Amino acid sequence: MRIDIISALPEVLKAPFQTSIIARAVSNKTVQIHVHDLRKYANNKKKQIDDYSYGGGGGMVLMIEPIANCIEQLKNEREYQAVVFMSPDGEKLNQKISNQMSQLKNIIILCGRYEGIDQRVRDLFIDKEISIGDYVLTGGELPAMVLCDSIIRLIPGVMNNSSCALSDSFQDKLLSPPIYTRPACYNNHNVPKVLLSGDEKKIAEWREKKSIQRTLERRPDLLND
Ligand code: SAH
Repeated sequence: MRIDIISALPEVLKAPFQTSIIARAVSNKTVQIHVHDLRKYANNKKKQIDDYSYGGGGGMVLMIEPIANCIEQLKNEREYQAVVFMSPDGEKLNQKISNQMSQLKNIIILCGRYEGIDQRVRDLFIDKEISIGDYVLTGGELPAMVLCDSIIRLIPGVMNNSSCALSDSFQDKLLSPPIYTRPACYNNHNVPKVLLSGDEKKIAEWREKKSIQRTLERRPDLLND
């Protein structure tokens, strides 16, 4: 999979791609991440990418030309299955969207900044708008990272044990069951015996029961979906 991220602050996107599971997926070429500095696509000498909002009101707006230049150049080079804009008024990200997107070959993710982007970018170039929740951040870079992380860990071969990703919360409308590691006893708090029994069938039944119980307690809405 190839992900092109367009950003006015590309340095924000560095560290998360250079650590742990995502870094491994990048280094073994399971996923290619290309970050594009919007400023390099500016039309004028001053490398301007934002301007005042027509009609007044505080805050700057990302201009259409640099974004159009970048998206058009990328589209000339290859075909993209989705051009995504991270936006608080987009569709709220969930595991279903991440699953679907993890199967795409090439995607572009555009990060907004300041007050946002010129509406014409959204009208002309964007086919999917995604929000990571009902709160407003200063830019689309962290939301883009959240989206990338959730997608990349679903690509086959990225997680050491691919069954891990399948047993995650939300994957089957259920939350994950409780998990434990050593020591088996901590200050008289014991790990449930069944997990130490080695009986795979009983362990699977226990986990399923706990998953259902936790989902009913915390997120009964998932079961009605
Ligand atoms: N004025 C805008 C918010 C701009 S925040 C509004 O009220 O809708 C600046 C940029 O940060 C946005 O363009 C978007 O790319 C990003 N952003 C902020 N919060 C976000 C969220 N919850 N989900 C996705 N992107 C977000």
